[in-house]
Amino acid sequence: MISESHPFYKHFEKVYGARWPGLYAALVQSEQQVARQNKLSPVENLSAKKWSSFPQKPELPGCFWIPSGEHSQPERNADELLDIYIMDPASVMVARALDVQSGDRVLDMCAAPGGKSLVMIESLAEDGEIFCNDLSPERRERLKKVIQQYVPRSVRDRVWVTGKDGVQFGLKEPDSFDRILLDAPCSGERHILENKAAQDEWSPRRTEHLASRQYSLLAAAFLAVKSGGRIVYSTCSISPAENDEVVRKLLKKKKDAVRLVEAPLGVGGERTECGVIYLPDHAGFGPLYFSIIEKT
Ligand code: SAM
Repeated sequence: MISESHPFYKHFEKVYGARWPGLYAALVQSEQQVARQNKLSPVENLSAKKWSSFPQKPELPGCFWIPSGEHSQPERNADELLDIYIMDPASVMVARALDVQSGDRVLDMCAAPGGKSLVMIESLAEDGEIFCNDLSPERRERLKKVIQQYVPRSVRDRVWVTGKDGVQFGLKEPDSFDRILLDAPCSGERHILENKAAQDEWSPRRTEHLASRQYSLLAAAFLAVKSGGRIVYSTCSISPAENDEVVRKLLKKKKDAVRLVEAPLGVGGERTECGVIYLPDHAGFGPLYFSIIEKT
C-alpha cells in the first residue's frame, strides 16, 4: 500500500481524477491471467486436460482463464514442448494486433521473456522469420529458454535471438521488416506498487526520461519498417506520457509518412486518442496500452 500523500499517488490522482481510487485499488490486486495453449504443439498432445475445466471466452480462442486462487504450471506434451504459457490476456490481444502473416519478416524489438513472440511465431509457422531482440543479457537467456521450451526445432530455424539496443535497427536495417512489435520498457506502475524501493525512487521525471527513450525506440522502428508495414507500440504503463504522447510525437514529426490503424477494441478495452488501453478497474486485467501505426 502507498499513502495518499505519496507523490506517485498524487500524480495519478491528477491524471485520472475521480477514477483514481478505484483504479489504484484494482492495480494492487493480483493480476488476471490466462493459460494460452501452445498451438505449435499438436492439440492432441495437450497434457492433463486440466485446462479444459477453466473458462474459455470467444474473444481469446485457445486461452483458458485462470480462476483466482488457482496455481497451474505448464506441463510437457508428448513432443516434449510445454503445453501452455501463462500471460496477461491483453498481451495476447496486443501481439495479435500486429496481424503477422505467413511469410513476413518480423522484428520483436524488446522481446524478453517472450510471451508475445510466441503468439507471433505461431502466425509464421509455415513461412517467414522473426528476430526476437532484447538488450538485457539475463532476460535474453530467459527468452532463449522460452523459445526452446515452446517452439519445435523445424520452426526454430526461422527464429533469431539478437541483443542489440533497439535504437540501432533504425540506421542499420532501414526498410527491412513487414511487422515490428515495440513492447517498450516502461514505468510498469503495477510493479512499482508491489515494490517499496521502486516507490521511493519514483518521480515524474523518471516517466519523462522513459518517454524520451520510448520515442527513440519508436522512431527507430519507424525507420526499420517497410513502407506499407505495420508497427504495434505497446506499454504496460498507465501514464499518458508513455502512451498516447509518444505516438502523438511520431505523428507530429513524420506527418504524412505515418497513419494510425484503428485498433480492435477487445472486451474491456477503452479507446484513447491514438490506441486502446486495458485498465484493471474496467477490464479486470492489464494495464496494457497499444497503438497500431502504419508507414505509408
Ligand atoms: N515483450 C516482452 C514479452 O511480452 O514477454 C516484454 C518486454 S518488456 C516490457 C521490455 C523489454 O525491453 C525488457 O526485456 C528490456 O530488457 C528490454 N529493453 C530495454 N531497453 C531496450 C533497448 N534499448 N533495446 C532493446 N531492448 C530493450
